[in-house]
Amino acid sequence: MTKILANDGLAQPGIDALTSKGFKVVTEKVNQENLINAINSENYEVLLVRSATKVRKDLIDSCPQLKIIGRGGVGMDNIDVDYAKKKGIHVINTAEASSNSVAELVFAHLFSMVRFLFDSNRKMPLSGDSEFKSLKKSYAKGKELKGKTLGIIGFGRIGEEVVKKAIGLGMKVNVYDKYIKEKKVILKFFNDEEKVFKIKTEQLECVLKESDFITLHIPKTSNTAFINAEEIGLMKTGAGIINTSRGGLVDETALMFALDKQKIAYAGLDVFDNEPTPSIHICMHNAISLTPHIGAATLEAQSKIGTELADQITNIYNK
Ligand code: NAD
Repeated sequence: MTKILANDGLAQPGIDALTSKGFKVVTEKVNQENLINAINSENYEVLLVRSATKVRKDLIDSCPQLKIIGRGGVGMDNIDVDYAKKKGIHVINTAEASSNSVAELVFAHLFSMVRFLFDSNRKMPLSGDSEFKSLKKSYAKGKELKGKTLGIIGFGRIGEEVVKKAIGLGMKVNVYDKYIKEKKVILKFFNDEEKVFKIKTEQLECVLKESDFITLHIPKTSNTAFINAEEIGLMKTGAGIINTSRGGLVDETALMFALDKQKIAYAGLDVFDNEPTPSIHICMHNAISLTPHIGAATLEAQSKIGTELADQITNIYNK
């Protein structure tokens, strides 16, 4: 029986789909330092990971019976993909499964930011009973999202979902993508009606200058940040920045400086430098809405990830 180690877990529908096809799925976590030994001694042919487990050259070289490395999710920065492929290993991921969940989290941060929920949820438990009136006053200048301009950097799968939701809320969208000039976006409604929008992308400078909020949906391909002090300098005073893509795309020092100077009013972060030990200054900043990398952490996304991985693995074994 072919054995699969899902080292960062796998949702039950994925386990069920694989088990029904005759695979044995083990979800007991093996520490990184014991992983090579475990794969060899248990004769695993498939290694499934999310973002925690690293699959580097040493592991690939030391585990010659590995046939498939699977990433439940999108980013493959924890896997030496090209090296694995060169060694004849199939490397698969689930590109689509989490797009809607990440896009919804963007709006969770946006709503949290414009109505100060992130701050209110910190302060109400401490002083809601004694300082009610002053807290109420400090959150009096909320804003509506309707009519505001959302700048979307990256018009791929998640960027497109964000565009749809922004349009649904009555926002203007201003999109930048290095490689895409125009895209047809189809909004589908509950009653099967559809509305097609042709969205042309803009220059980065224009998106930065004209947007009330900027949200990033691009991969991290270098060690330099995409949003630095210079890009922040171009943005509107009082704008917001959201990063649910990858830590390091926004320079955290430049962001905190801009927040302290009130050039940027607030930020929403799901991803951080040095995960899983982000900067305490970022975590304690009173103008940042924070989540611990939970973009794809919904029952729906995890279920889609599980079944997509199961389909791809069965296809490879049936070839
Ligand atoms: P995608 O590949 O579908 O889209 C990325 C888009 O960025 C593409 O359209 C591409 O043309 C564009 N792009 C690439 N480099 C660019 C650059 N330098 N400047 C401008 N545009 C550029 O990817 P996706 O599925 O939309 O995912 C986007 C990001 O979200 C990835 O970094 C992924 O790791 C991250 N992500 C995070 C979570 C989470 O849990 N927070 C979950 C899933 C994905």
